[in-house]
Amino acid sequence: MGTLKNSIETVISGLATGLYLDGEWIDAQGRKTFAVENPATGATLATVADGSIADAQRAIRSAGDNQVNWAHTPPRERSDILRRAYEMIMDRTDELSLLMTAEMGKPLAEARGEVAYGAEFLRWFSEEAVRISGDYTTSGDGKNRILLTRSPVGPSILITPWNFPLAMGTRKIGPAIASGCTMVFKPAPQTPLTSLALVQILREAGLPPGVLNVVTTTDAEGVVKTWMESGIARKVSFTGSTAVGKILLAQAAKNVMRTSMELGGNAPFIVFDDADLDRAVDGAMVAKLRNMGEACTAANRFLVHRSVADSFSDKLANRMSSLKVGDGTLAGVDIGPLVDGPALQKVESLVDDALSRGAEVVLGGSRPTGMGYFYNPTVLSNVSPDSLMMDTEIFGPVAPVVPFSDEAQALALANNTNSGLVGYVFTQDIDRALRLSDELEVGMVGVNTGIVSNPGAPFGGIKHSGLGREGGRLGIDEFLEYKYLAIPR
Ligand code: ADP
Repeated sequence: MGTLKNSIETVISGLATGLYLDGEWIDAQGRKTFAVENPATGATLATVADGSIADAQRAIRSAGDNQVNWAHTPPRERSDILRRAYEMIMDRTDELSLLMTAEMGKPLAEARGEVAYGAEFLRWFSEEAVRISGDYTTSGDGKNRILLTRSPVGPSILITPWNFPLAMGTRKIGPAIASGCTMVFKPAPQTPLTSLALVQILREAGLPPGVLNVVTTTDAEGVVKTWMESGIARKVSFTGSTAVGKILLAQAAKNVMRTSMELGGNAPFIVFDDADLDRAVDGAMVAKLRNMGEACTAANRFLVHRSVADSFSDKLANRMSSLKVGDGTLAGVDIGPLVDGPALQKVESLVDDALSRGAEVVLGGSRPTGMGYFYNPTVLSNVSPDSLMMDTEIFGPVAPVVPFSDEAQALALANNTNSGLVGYVFTQDIDRALRLSDELEVGMVGVNTGIVSNPGAPFGGIKHSGLGREGGRLGIDEFLEYKYLAIPR
């Protein structure tokens, strides 16, 4: 423990904790700062600069001033920067995962997984940077050439959440660099350290000054509004809550900005009576417990055929009961703390609400005693469909099981939400799997798997879960405009 504590301190002492504006680190010393807390212990890990409106103005001016030059950089140069940054992240897996676990709570093994996942977005988009292509056709009457070219959308505002501190950054920064957009970036106040480490790496990898400007702040509303209203930014890419996404969409309307919105989810995890139950439980373990359940893709509602609901709940509870809850930096820990006090209180009140409406505790249902924002892995059976957790992201290790009687009812329950990010279907019947995939109102479907995230696939939702896609071949489109040239033959 002593050595681990020392190594966290060493990693943090090597980190720039100021603002990154116009290619310069603005020292946090002597400025307003805010503390970053370790959710496993409540201890302060570091203090970082608390960016002001004036800082926000400087950031967006820098992005605006550097857009034209950056757009003219050869694609291969942009590609090489991304590729070098990918290699550097992979080389620094140990320190980055330690940093992420310390500021966010996920177990080290999961943090290492996120380092590989997050780095891969940079490698993926390094490959896309040199493959941006347009189109050439002839008009129907044969009289015109129709030439399509593509150009960067322009200065982009990037706003990320705390649950995947590295990957949510690289998933936006990767395509922005690849396409030639300059950026202003505001990471979540709970987890700025991983983002600052990423910025350091991109700088070392050769990213020119002014292309990426970073403002850490406790005034998200003020800083982002300054950018949205600047008239300089042409695009906003946001990952976070649906409530904040709607505010940004309204702000974007004023300047007719492009938007990418990865908002909240409420994923149904549907298990039919013909499913391989052990496989369904394997899927449930990742879909529910990855990141302590703090993922927008987390299975939020387990809809299970009545005839197998009890055996599914028991098998799941059995698997979850063997998990070790604790400080994610310690060996053998499976479930780290939730990110902060409000996150823990939310989970507790959602469980209380479900119990008051008749749910039964199969496992857990409480928090362990002691320091840190921990919550025990929990399975609730017979959860009433009118429970608050049926339409609220739980964002914790709580699996509510709701029995259904037939496919039509399962589908109706699954779609009975404004969210539409992802759904999971477990069945051995291929026709049913495809039918459900067609009918589920979501942007992604996991068929007999509990994980869909993949840098090579387009991530995103429909309905109130968002607009646009991140990752995959579509990911770069979000940062590109088309231009059509009419040329008579
Ligand atoms: P969560 O509840 O998971 O923290 P939020 O949507 O509140 O989700 O936060 C996601 C990101 O949005 C964070 O970087 C946060 O600081 C930022 N944010 C919060 N409120 C606003 C706002 N009014 N305008 C712009 N960004 C915001």
